[in-house]
Amino acid sequence: MAVFSLSDFADHEQVVFCSDEKSGLRAIIAVHNSNLGPALGGCRMWAYASEEDAVRDVLRLSRGMTYKSAMARLKLGGGKAVVIGNPRTDKTRQLLQALARAIDRLNGRYIAAEDSGTCVADMKLMRQITPHIAGIEDKPSDIGMRSGDPSPATAYGVFVGIRAAVKDKLGRDSLAGLRVAVQGIGNVGFDLACQLHAAGASLWVADIHPQQLLRARDELAATVVAADEIYAQDVDVFAPCALGAVLNDKTIPQLKAQVVAGASNNQLAETRHGVDLMNRGILYVPDYVINAGGIIDIYHERIGFDRAALVRHIDGIYDNLMEIFERARQEERPTGEVADVIAEERFRR
Ligand code: NAD
Repeated sequence: MAVFSLSDFADHEQVVFCSDEKSGLRAIIAVHNSNLGPALGGCRMWAYASEEDAVRDVLRLSRGMTYKSAMARLKLGGGKAVVIGNPRTDKTRQLLQALARAIDRLNGRYIAAEDSGTCVADMKLMRQITPHIAGIEDKPSDIGMRSGDPSPATAYGVFVGIRAAVKDKLGRDSLAGLRVAVQGIGNVGFDLACQLHAAGASLWVADIHPQQLLRARDELAATVVAADEIYAQDVDVFAPCALGAVLNDKTIPQLKAQVVAGASNNQLAETRHGVDLMNRGILYVPDYVINAGGIIDIYHERIGFDRAALVRHIDGIYDNLMEIFERARQEERPTGEVADVIAEERFRR
């Protein structure tokens, strides 16, 4: 299998293949770029169909972390780890310990955090072996007392980003009366919906699990719609907070919203869908810019947690987005492309 010639390899600094016979660990750790600091990124466990899929995923994700952290003005580089295996059946204490030893051997060049298939408890276990783990501290905040969970910070960042987009696209400072469709009422989506409701917005919500939907209906006066009908709602903002690749050939023509701004990673199915949105006059808020609250939260945990400083830093998402929107307008380019250029300017400096 080729690695260096993969398009996803881009200019990775280091890719480490790790194995441990006793626990069955097979993992790949990728450090994309460490110009701004150690490479921080989640540790994902997934039953990949092939080793090539795992390599591609870790390369793509670690590169994405470099852009996200640089854009958020963090002194962090981009990295990621993937463990090949089913987290429900293959994740053992021994495997996590072997993974922690592999991370420790990198001497802090890579710092791990939870991701799909791993949780804060796993990270706490690994922290007993290596100090190079983040996102595990219990900390108070007015966005919830939590153990490592970055979701409240992510949701607040998305709220800030929606305010910026609404100001830019609709010329409005207030969210009162704004109509927002939230796809996915999970950890981030529900929290975001609460903030939007408190700001006077009207909500339309969809999920594949009914429990949270009923909470949103009862507590936030949200209108519940079927999962496949959320795109076509007559709203101002569509906020994807469920899964990736939701902006595609099938969904974009259905959108009535003038703004797409949500927490999901990799919302554009392909880069060309950013052009499609622009041509339709829809303001797309680049996902990794608006959903950076979580990584900002983890960063503040590392530098010494101060809630006011965290909130100020997350509020910076507003100015980041205004810079992107302005340049995108001047250069007549999609917002996602402009975000990448600005991030590169920051980490290649
Ligand atoms: P979550 O699993 O708590 O919530 C996702 C919700 O989406 C669930 O309630 C799920 O039932 C629902 N869902 C799944 N498929 C759906 C579909 N087809 N239609 C409607 N709803 C559907 O996840 P989360 O932590 O809230 O994260 C939401 C998104 O934001 C994810 O894409 C995640 O990668 C991204 N993100 C999260 C964070 C964070 O701090 N949690 C940070 C950055 C990005």
